[in-house]
Amino acid sequence: MRRVTRMSSHALVLACLFLVAACSSQVASQAPAATGVTVFEGARLIVGDGNAPIENSAFIVDNNRFTTVGRKGEIAAPAGAARVDLTGKTVMPAIVDAHGHLGFLDMANGTMSKTNFTRENYIDHLQRYAYHGVAATISTGTDMGELAYRLREETIPGAALIRTVGLGLAWPGSGPNDPSRNDVPYAVTTVEQARKAVQDLAPHKPDFVKIWVDDRNGRQKKLTPELYQAAADEARKHNLPAIAHVFGLEDAKGLVRAGVEGFLHSIRDSAVDDEFIKLAKEHNIWLTPNLGGMNRASLIRANGTPEWFDDPLVRETIAPAIIKARAEMYEKRRAGGAPAPSAAQTFDLPNTRKLHAAGVRLVLGSDTAGDSNRWIGMMTLVELENMVAAGLTPAEVIVAATRDAAAVLRLDQLGMVAAGKSADFIVLDRNPLDNIANVRKISQVYLRGQEVDRAGLRAKWQAQWSKATSTQ
Ligand SMILES: [Zn+2]
Repeated sequence: MRRVTRMSSHALVLACLFLVAACSSQVASQAPAATGVTVFEGARLIVGDGNAPIENSAFIVDNNRFTTVGRKGEIAAPAGAARVDLTGKTVMPAIVDAHGHLGFLDMANGTMSKTNFTRENYIDHLQRYAYHGVAATISTGTDMGELAYRLREETIPGAALIRTVGLGLAWPGSGPNDPSRNDVPYAVTTVEQARKAVQDLAPHKPDFVKIWVDDRNGRQKKLTPELYQAAADEARKHNLPAIAHVFGLEDAKGLVRAGVEGFLHSIRDSAVDDEFIKLAKEHNIWLTPNLGGMNRASLIRANGTPEWFDDPLVRETIAPAIIKARAEMYEKRRAGGAPAPSAAQTFDLPNTRKLHAAGVRLVLGSDTAGDSNRWIGMMTLVELENMVAAGLTPAEVIVAATRDAAAVLRLDQLGMVAAGKSADFIVLDRNPLDNIANVRKISQVYLRGQEVDRAGLRAKWQAQWSKATSTQ
């Protein structure tokens, strides 16, 4: 009896191995091999530098790098190279998103909580970014423990790279909005605490020191100039660049003078003035406008929903129960009359336009997963539309979301389709230069030369949804 059991389990293992082999050989016939050289040809190629696209392009990927980029018929492919025909498609660099909060949101059921903050969930988030064509992001101030620092050292196939600031600094309760995370950052009320927090962070080598300065419409206290100056000074002593979440114009000026190099969010209490623009340019400041991603009020159409809500990407990645709740929320709002736009949304578009016209560096930052209504992936993609609404051209927005965002995060290998760069790119069915919303028309995503298994990810998420339904 025992022997029979062993034999059958042995047979089962053999059957499984056969299946795995069959599946992987099928994948290999569609996608380039794990090692080796592949020529991708025929696509309209948006390089990521703002120049006109290369029509009928060809580019060579050797293992995980681009080696040659040019026009079809004009570049020499090595003998034996695999070929992928992308005629009719548009290729652009994979996106880099310079503002997110990973780990707390469970996309299977829509909950936000500290108990969701696990390695498994964090990697799920990185896979969701990858699914939507995002090659890297940074988690900005809510990374508990060592998890994000550890993941930063890893390269996970089919997942975006992560950068992290560890924990940010805020006046108690004035950091993250979401209740599940508002006690997570360093609570700072004295200069000593500000310096101690940075000293605490330094051995972890966070990518930045993050400082929140926002009174949340007068509902909270915020870090005083004395406190954020101490934090920025301590960061400088440890050779760490500093960034700030900002709301008000005068705080933004004070933070530039204190030595902060970039801002998450734009100025939202008033119109930016010449003094700020001069300071920002003198200090080569960068800023993520953070125009609300998929949740911007102006995206809502007469029928009460935004256009992105109809996108197949939603059905592919979001649990049906969450979609249903969202549809009900839209219907309730439509029936009740649309709420007036917030004061912040009165100033943010014109300020973005003005800063851009003045030549201040703007990069993509979506604030993804900062609450349960900021869905991973869609939040990033729709933010590109908001930046076009602010007055940037689609070509400029693509640069802000690729080359320039990569530069800000010191990810020099990302952000362009160019020889020597990491082979991270999106194959689109339509041209985003015609309409930036076409960044949602994703055919394939490649990260580090490998096609992201989007069908496999869809299957994983669908299995989670049916499990959630059956246990209800
Ligand atoms: Zn944020």
